[in-house]
Amino acid sequence: MAIQIERIEEINPYDTAMEQFDEAAERLGLSQATRELLRTPKRELTVNFPVRMDNGDLKMFKGYRVQHNVTRGPAKGGIRFSPNISLDEVRALAMWMTWKCAVVDIPFGGAKGGIICDPCTMSTTELERMTRRYTNEISMLLGPQSDIPAPDMNTNPQVMAWMMDAYSTLQGHSVPAVVTGKPLSIGGSQGRLEATARGVQVVTRETLLDLGMQPEHCSVVIQGFGNVGSITAKLLSEIGCTIVGLSDIEGGIYNPNGIDVQMAQIYYRAHGSLAGIHGTEKVTNEELLELPCDVLVPAALENQLTVRNAGRIKARLIVEAANGPTTPEAEQILNERGILVVPDILANAGGVTVSYFEWVQDLQHFFWSEEEINTRLESVMQKAYRAVCEKAQEQETNLRMGAYLLALARVSEATEIRGTYP
Ligand code: NAD
Repeated sequence: MAIQIERIEEINPYDTAMEQFDEAAERLGLSQATRELLRTPKRELTVNFPVRMDNGDLKMFKGYRVQHNVTRGPAKGGIRFSPNISLDEVRALAMWMTWKCAVVDIPFGGAKGGIICDPCTMSTTELERMTRRYTNEISMLLGPQSDIPAPDMNTNPQVMAWMMDAYSTLQGHSVPAVVTGKPLSIGGSQGRLEATARGVQVVTRETLLDLGMQPEHCSVVIQGFGNVGSITAKLLSEIGCTIVGLSDIEGGIYNPNGIDVQMAQIYYRAHGSLAGIHGTEKVTNEELLELPCDVLVPAALENQLTVRNAGRIKARLIVEAANGPTTPEAEQILNERGILVVPDILANAGGVTVSYFEWVQDLQHFFWSEEEINTRLESVMQKAYRAVCEKAQEQETNLRMGAYLLALARVSEATEIRGTYP
């Protein structure tokens, strides 16, 4: 068991991102100079800062903000709180954001940030002080026209509100457009909380229909029960899918006859755990990924589908709601086994799409209805899904490579047309 965990941690997500990029750049025949430019993060900031803990002690924290590419617009990407975060992980996530924004064709570049911390062991006041100080430390990069954070793992609308307030205090006036995923009362957007999951719902439904499978006859397993995983469970059950497996960091539950998602959400809020939900069997996170089902949705973290388990995955379709859940080696095995993978840079792009809508609304001080947001989101996701499928078909490749080819062509065209300064 210990050895397996060690091996997973040895998989560097930045190596994965580079490998995927290099293959697409080669297929596109990009020049060596453009390749070097696109594979190198533009800016990387590491900050070390003290935070006063509730017991009066000062504790040092380390945080990062990486802007991968800003050719097509301001840097955009989430902030992650995690004890395991590393600069390479942030680099990979920033690079994936560049390609994701290009896949859905929104005018943003890619960024990501994070703080090495264990939010589960910190009080709300400690989290607030840490978030405000981190915002201050990276404020030279932030701004509605330069770099716009959003929520990611272990961050939420409250954290975005603190970031917005800390940045606004520095400027001397309110700057809602500096972050997205904010609460509605300070310039957040209708539909943002559900947006990533709604995007996952759209691409899952479209893919199933293309495969000739009816959602009402499909069983689904979802890893992760946070913002993305729990809402994806709800939205997929709304289109008729039967959710048979769910998990969080502590483990999973399984019921081949279906889990009542609404009940699971209520239970989770009350108990902070999925374990013990009536009629379900307890499974480990490793077992969960290998359960019999039609659709597997990893919605937790990177490196979940690896050479260790790719040969035993039973799903017919994998929809990557998380970023980087499949290693390149695992994907090769899945492809050989005829398992279709809808890649992260398409599947979870609904979040950044509604973040873009939120930014546009903040800049215009004019807000749209939830229906308007969801209709526009559906249209962006459908268009991106079709474009990726067409590219993959035309180039006789898989959906990930189709998405990469589409994204790299858009970013490299912008790079070349802007030229080099001076
Ligand atoms: P979250 O913090 O709300 O939820 C994360 C979930 O994963 C929790 O249920 C947690 O218990 C579970 N988890 C953590 N470690 C795990 C492990 N080792 N095994 C199994 N489960 C584990 O985070 P989120 O915002 O839902 O993000 C989930 C994924 O989706 C991340 O990869 C994130 O980058 C990606 N994503 C999020 C958004 C967004 O809008 N929030 C947008 C695009 C992509």
